[in-house]
Amino acid sequence: MVTQAISNTSLMCRLKDVIPVHSAQGPTALPNSSAFIASRLTPTTFLVKEYDDIYSEQPYIYVKLIQQLNTIIVVDTGCGGTSSNPNIEIKRLREFLETVRIEDNDGRPLNEGRRMKYLVILSHCHYDHILAVEQFSDSVILASGYSPEFLRPSKLPEHSLCQELGIETPSYSPNLVDHMHRVLSSDGKQTSMTIMHSPGHTPDELAVYDEDERMLYVGDTLYENAPIIFPKEGSIIDWMETVDELISFVGDKESQSGLAVKINAGHETAGQPALQVLTSAKGFMEDVLRGSEKVQRRWTKRGEETVMYEQDGKRFALICPERLIAEARK
Ligand SMILES: [Zn+2]
Repeated sequence: MVTQAISNTSLMCRLKDVIPVHSAQGPTALPNSSAFIASRLTPTTFLVKEYDDIYSEQPYIYVKLIQQLNTIIVVDTGCGGTSSNPNIEIKRLREFLETVRIEDNDGRPLNEGRRMKYLVILSHCHYDHILAVEQFSDSVILASGYSPEFLRPSKLPEHSLCQELGIETPSYSPNLVDHMHRVLSSDGKQTSMTIMHSPGHTPDELAVYDEDERMLYVGDTLYENAPIIFPKEGSIIDWMETVDELISFVGDKESQSGLAVKINAGHETAGQPALQVLTSAKGFMEDVLRGSEKVQRRWTKRGEETVMYEQDGKRFALICPERLIAEARK
């Protein structure tokens, strides 16, 4: 998401519905001592929230356990566990996954005893999705191959926004994958996951579709209840094409199966009806482009005139360089 200027909902609200759970016989973790909390989304998939990071990003990390393939898929790695609470003990995502007992996982850690091999998929290279990636340097890391230039190590400090924040850029070597890449386990077996290029938010933004559970992961392409943010490297033209493609993809999957697809974003939105969220977000962007939404705020960010729009009811909002809107209107 990469906010700074806007804080979205009150933290107290968030904490009420997401209480860290450790069983009474938990080995190391005490209540509230972890920078993360996990809850079950599906029979195999958990939402891990980094709920109080110092950057106020509150990123969503998705973890899928594929026991039969001995594989644990981690979609995004969050902000590195740097919590606003100085008393937090467990800051490393990997330690959380391997040691903290999760009530929704029958009281066991998600990757107890490191039994499963990690496979990391990065939705894009913004710092709030990659700051813990070095903890997985022994694992396969997948990223979009849409624009290898954008992910060049020499460009990463700028494109990850780490430089802007004055923090160290993680060092990692992703495998850059094609559009519609079928994700394989570490021993080469097919998983139910497919990676799609979804440029717009950034050139390297990707989406992941889990065929088994009809779950679509969209990173920062869109979410509800907090501003959808485009950095200056983004493109609303590409975003529109991506959202159209995702709408048609989800429509096909739903008509083939007769069952609904759910959408999971990098912030705020998880387990919602995909088609409804995608079409509503597209409708909001169309309103912005045709001028029926009014600019609510403007300021300069990274050297560009930046504007904010917000829907009545605040479900969707947008922050982007004004230039991106002008380009998309042409
Ligand atoms: Zn982002």
